[in-house]
Amino acid sequence: MKLHEYQSKQLFAKYGIPIPKGEVATTPEDARRIARDLNKRVVIKSQVLVGGRGKAGGVKLANTPDEAERVAGQILGMDIKGLTVRKVLVDEAADIKQEIYLGIVLDRVQRRAIMMASAAGGMDIEEVARTQPEKIIRVAIDPFLGLREYQTRQIAYSIGLNRELIRDFNTIAQGLYRCFSDVDASLVEINPLIVNGEGKLQAVDGKILTDDNALFRHPDLAAMRDVDEEAPSETEARQRGLSYIKLDGEIGCMVNGAGLAMATMDMTALFGGSPANFLDIGGGAQADKVAAALRIILADPNVKAVLFNIFGGITRCDEVARGIVAALEEVKPTVPMVARLVGTNEEEGRRILAAANMGTAKTLAEAAQKAVAAIKGEAGVIQLPPVEVKPLKAARKVSARTGAARKSATPAVKKPAAKKPVAKKPAAKPKAKR
Ligand code: GDP
Ligand code: MN
Repeated sequence: MKLHEYQSKQLFAKYGIPIPKGEVATTPEDARRIARDLNKRVVIKSQVLVGGRGKAGGVKLANTPDEAERVAGQILGMDIKGLTVRKVLVDEAADIKQEIYLGIVLDRVQRRAIMMASAAGGMDIEEVARTQPEKIIRVAIDPFLGLREYQTRQIAYSIGLNRELIRDFNTIAQGLYRCFSDVDASLVEINPLIVNGEGKLQAVDGKILTDDNALFRHPDLAAMRDVDEEAPSETEARQRGLSYIKLDGEIGCMVNGAGLAMATMDMTALFGGSPANFLDIGGGAQADKVAAALRIILADPNVKAVLFNIFGGITRCDEVARGIVAALEEVKPTVPMVARLVGTNEEEGRRILAAANMGTAKTLAEAAQKAVAAIKGEAGVIQLPPVEVKPLKAARKVSARTGAARKSATPAVKKPAAKKPVAKKPAAKPKAKR
């Protein structure tokens, strides 16, 4: 979860990091009052959960309360990268002499938190990393020893900080690391950390990304979530207990189980497709949950086909099939769909889907290939060979069925030549975000 600039800075302040005085306004009149109370030149800053607000015109200075009201009126309601500005932060304007970047991220390769700093602060740090990587200093933090003072001193020297500021810099860096650890963040960032007119360090912008898997132990942070800022599909997914992460591909995937979802994404990539999302509907998924998941997948305009991969255990395939049919009636999709249902009550599930004219597949490999083929021109609802309906008695032997399902999936998974290029990308993405 992302925190707003004002929320991040308020947290930073609790860790001894100096921030400008300021308050949040939701109306131009509010902004005027705050500017009058501060009785200084102010900066009006859009509070939206994207970077580069400055370049987009979402950060502006105002000399008087009148001007503050007018500028806030311009910024409130503005669209920044698809997000509507509903709040502005009215801060005492800083007199900026120097802009520094200071951040901490989790480095999964080193299995450490990394402190990063650069004298080229203020601008897009990704851009600096791309064009002038030598301008970014990286220091790995030992989780047992914590951030050591010699490390922060080394950083301060490397970015050419005035020697008189090294003590304060150490306090800020230590505070930032404590904040990072305490809130279970995956990223904390001050960009820019400035040297102001009085020669003091101050955090002018702030960003915190928290790890959603740790939010349960931070009710105070969870309460800071700004639902207005989330994509509606992500809000619905969270409220329904679905794990959903949007990706950039074209094949919508609905799967029960995180591992199975990863495998499905890999398999899709293996046959030349790209997954539009990671979606785990969880165990024992009921019809209404399936319908919600389908709605969420289809709300993504990039989705050109949908692949269902359901492994029935506690989840019953017929229940899922009914959910899919109910969802089809509600959502009326125009993209082709293919479903692979295996496990408890699979025949019943396939019968329900076949009756609704939907394509089914017996193995994941077959389903993935069909979904990819559907996108590459062979459009329309995929026509598959008739479903082989086994006697109902067999449906009760769940354990036997589970074995059979595993067997049928094996040949595709084993393809040795194709194994290498199995896209690391889609599999890594949701991991990184979760
Ligand atoms: P971002 O563009 O979303 O990262 O928003 P920032 O808060 O980092 O603001 C962008 C840029 O606006 C900063 O790098 C500064 O150059 C400038 N800026 C922000 N606040 C102030 C301020 O109080 N005074 C002055 N003079 N410039 C500011
Ligand atoms: Mn910034």
